[in-house]
Amino acid sequence: MTETPPPRRARAEIDLGALRANVRTLRARVAPHVRIMGVVKADAYGHGAVRCARAALEAGADWLGTATPHEALALRAAGITDVPVMCWLWTPGDPWDEGIEADLDMSVSGLWALEEVRAAARRTGRTARVQLKADTGLGRNGCQPADWPQLVGEALRAQEEGLVRVTGLWSHFACADEPGHPSIAAQLDTFRSMLDHAEKAGVEPEVRHIANSPATLTLPETHFDLVRPGIALYGVSPSPDLGTSAELGLRPVMTLKASVALVKQVPAGHGVSYGHHYVTGGETT
Ligand SMILES: *Cc1c(COP(=O)(O)O)cnc(C)c1O
Repeated sequence: MTETPPPRRARAEIDLGALRANVRTLRARVAPHVRIMGVVKADAYGHGAVRCARAALEAGADWLGTATPHEALALRAAGITDVPVMCWLWTPGDPWDEGIEADLDMSVSGLWALEEVRAAARRTGRTARVQLKADTGLGRNGCQPADWPQLVGEALRAQEEGLVRVTGLWSHFACADEPGHPSIAAQLDTFRSMLDHAEKAGVEPEVRHIANSPATLTLPETHFDLVRPGIALYGVSPSPDLGTSAELGLRPVMTLKASVALVKQVPAGHGVSYGHHYVTGGETT
């Protein structure tokens, strides 16, 4: 006996045309040589990773980015094989072998991760694509400036052995959505000096990158070779301080629709729901 599913009373509609338009808007905001990595982590911010990834590529994105290796491997398994895919949130014991075989760009923030990559490269007999992540001030993932020379040195040794190829140098902003925040310039300075160190030591990266959506939209000096927009792809302004979506030329990709269950008039000063965190300012519907 098959059961009929209950009718859907609420749904999220995804407009891939809007997503493609957002990619074109972002493309127009960056110099022609700057590549665009569409960030499709967390199931494309809930919009559906594979379909959003395909739409972003159709509209001119050059790379895809995910947080976890599992998300990146799922893109490869769906047949997205002809573009570079990077993932940055690795933990010990993660599928490094599969990552190498799927030709993922794997982020490395510390020596433990480089050690796992090396071992996986030996096991698979292939060269791993590795991007070294600098902590320029975010204070989350990434290698501290003091530890950077050692990480760069070890990565170059692994490269000489043919185990890895260092394809990228990168970092991430803490406050790019707060215009004029002093950490932005400070992170950029630190990033430049960490790049300088790595390049003088002999790293020849394909891409250097630090810009998320707000930096892509408002800080051209942060674009380097590649930008990594996430929220802007989905048509959402990164912050009211930067403007509305419409002012930024972005179209919302998701629309939530539901049936209205009740309409009623309430007086002024009426608390609404648990905790009464909202109180009506006047008589209203
Ligand atoms: C989520 C994420 C992005 C995209 O950030 P948005 O602010 O959504 O554009 C870029 N880079 C990294 C490392 C991320 O984790």
